[in-house]
Amino acid sequence: MAPSGPGSSARRRCRRVLYWIPVVFITLLLCWSYYAYAIQLCIVSMENTGEQVVCLMAYHLLFGMFVWSYWKTIFTLPMNPSKEFHLSYAEKELLEREPRGEAHQEVLRRAAKDLPIYTRTMSGAIRYCDRCQLIKPDRCHHCSVCDKCILKMDHHCPWVNNCVGFSNYKFFLLFLAYSLLYCLFIAATDLQYFIKFWTNGLPDTQAKFHIMFLFFAAAMFSVSLSSLFGYHCWLVSKNKSTLEAFRSPVFRHGTDKNGFSLGFSKNMRQVFGDEKKYWLLPIFSSLGDGCSFPTCLVNQDPEQPSTPAGLSSTAKNSENHQFPAKPLRESQSHLLTDSQSWTESSTNPGKCKAGMSNPALTMENET
Ligand SMILES: [Zn+2]
Ligand SMILES: [Zn+2]
Repeated sequence: MAPSGPGSSARRRCRRVLYWIPVVFITLLLCWSYYAYAIQLCIVSMENTGEQVVCLMAYHLLFGMFVWSYWKTIFTLPMNPSKEFHLSYAEKELLEREPRGEAHQEVLRRAAKDLPIYTRTMSGAIRYCDRCQLIKPDRCHHCSVCDKCILKMDHHCPWVNNCVGFSNYKFFLLFLAYSLLYCLFIAATDLQYFIKFWTNGLPDTQAKFHIMFLFFAAAMFSVSLSSLFGYHCWLVSKNKSTLEAFRSPVFRHGTDKNGFSLGFSKNMRQVFGDEKKYWLLPIFSSLGDGCSFPTCLVNQDPEQPSTPAGLSSTAKNSENHQFPAKPLRESQSHLLTDSQSWTESSTNPGKCKAGMSNPALTMENET
């Protein structure tokens, strides 16, 4: 049990304030870079008016996009599992009474039977968060810093003092992209003045030191940001979160590192959405609800419905049919409605629509 009282709450408050230090550092660095580039380099040091205007316009565009995406990554609240994933009062009581083990799992299995969850713990158990008292949706993890379960959690980022997850992953990617472009642009346009600094071609004013440090800072951040951005581009192309890259998701049939991958184009669309006009803007356009994700493996799990929550209420009227455990290449998710599903190739499509989509009920009727 965590200690509680005035002392511990003061410590928590103090910790919360300290968490803002990296954000304050980046903000101050950004303010200084603005002063060094726009004022000291462009206005004071550039002699060509045309170069001045072009550099200032391009710089302000990148600066604006950088600040906008950074702001959105910091202040977009991470999404938590919806109430369907929380246990009812009766279920919580039952869970407290049951000792850990099979009986405990049985309570969770019953509570999870209509939920669109396909992943399990390493031991094959239903993923349950003791702290939040809920059944974790696929790709959801508990963040110890935020002390909450975060949908499609990627990682907790100290540089934005926020969890990067379903609600702000696109913003985080754009923040990386625009900050990288910002640094590359500064380094490229500052290079000739940086060379002049070392060849004594600059007038002896304070501007020359800003120009030198600006180039160093921009070049250094360009290197670190390009590796981080490159890594996240690879993650998006494979439809993985950072946590999943370190530990592959476990499905009922076992671990599958590409369990959520649907191919490059669809993986990209899951993060950036269908409308191209929003791709480069920090406006939320990711597909889905964050609680359920299409996977090519869903029908290999006989205990769970093959359709995400809210898709097929007719599944509840299922008859006791056994259906072939034919793997889907893509699930019948509302995320990707154009995807092919094996219901179409079934010999009895009508019945399949009502019955096959919930093998969990089949299992239940058998017991
Ligand atoms: Zn939790
Ligand atoms: Zn967090």
